[in-house]
Amino acid sequence: MTDSVPFLDLATQHAALETELRAAFDRVLSSGAFILGPEVNAFEEEVARYLGVAHAVGVSSGTDALLVALMALGVGPGDEVITTPFTFFATAGVVHRLGARPVFVDIRPGTFELDPAAVAAARTERTKAVIGVDLFGQPCDLDALREAAGPAVLVEDAAQSFGASYRGKTIGGHVPAVCFSFFPAKNLGGLGDGGLVSTDDAELATRMRRVRVHGAHPKYFHAMVGGNFRLDALQAAFLRVKLPHVDTWIAARRANAAYYDERLGAAGLAPERLGLPERADPGHTYNQYVIRTNRRDALRDALAEAGVPTAIYYPKPLHLQECFAYLGYEPGSLPIAERACDEVLAIPVGPELTEANRDRVATAILTTLT
Ligand SMILES: *Cc1c(COP(=O)(O)O)cnc(C)c1O
Repeated sequence: MTDSVPFLDLATQHAALETELRAAFDRVLSSGAFILGPEVNAFEEEVARYLGVAHAVGVSSGTDALLVALMALGVGPGDEVITTPFTFFATAGVVHRLGARPVFVDIRPGTFELDPAAVAAARTERTKAVIGVDLFGQPCDLDALREAAGPAVLVEDAAQSFGASYRGKTIGGHVPAVCFSFFPAKNLGGLGDGGLVSTDDAELATRMRRVRVHGAHPKYFHAMVGGNFRLDALQAAFLRVKLPHVDTWIAARRANAAYYDERLGAAGLAPERLGLPERADPGHTYNQYVIRTNRRDALRDALAEAGVPTAIYYPKPLHLQECFAYLGYEPGSLPIAERACDEVLAIPVGPELTEANRDRVATAILTTLT
């Protein structure tokens, strides 16, 4: 039996950068500045330039990027925030933590993204914000969501889509607050937790910089309550090493996705057996490559047997999570998202995936489903 295909091969990615990563560590070690400081400032400037935005605010994680953005926007008790139930928990967890009410609406069946028509239908005077999610690395339909959001502010959860573009322009400045994660498995991953919010709004950037340090301005004087949402200098230094490579890695993800599209699409299987999501925009970064099938669990077992690891993002929609029972959603209330949870399967697509291994993945899928 040959070795398993790695789901994501960060060891190979980091081995190629080992000398530079060690030099970054040494630089921070001898600087004595470990939290925020010059290393974080330099990283923020480099990211702002890469994204083509005025302000980039480094924070402690992608979750905290969402939290800091919503706090700076004044989301709190009495407010409603509309979002998708088919996302990582953090998207809605932050809304609840601020005492606001998460309002879940269904997704578009082809792309799995928050459905702008459903957002428009759910909007009330209490809707303070709408959070669109760039699921699997594909930008959500920002123009349609902005329209649907009306006077509510549109926040983009871009945790999975660093480096993506929407209508030909790198994301980061299309909406007032764009929230990124540097969790190791994202398109640009640190060696630990990290996140960032980008914005073109100077006033919002200033508020977020204060929220990040307990709301202090100046130090030890608090007109507002924030938290400790600071980015470590070490993570900023590592991310500065990795940032210049992110476009190459995204190109490799796209090449792997194009290969799967062709191999799996050409198989001509009935759509219930093997479905490929629609691609709304070529700016997709394929942080995950997912297929859908009504034989998901059997396929997953057969692939595991063949040494092909897979992942399920996500097995349970957020509106049916136990912690959100108080919101009163019933099974069947958001059927497209519920069905997606039963059918999607993510397969290896990372930039280090070899041609031999992606052939092995595609072959194993087709052998199992035909
Ligand atoms: C990863 C992720 C987050 C949270 O990011 P962390 O850095 O892990 O806190 C939020 N939203 C989505 C959609 C994610 O995939």
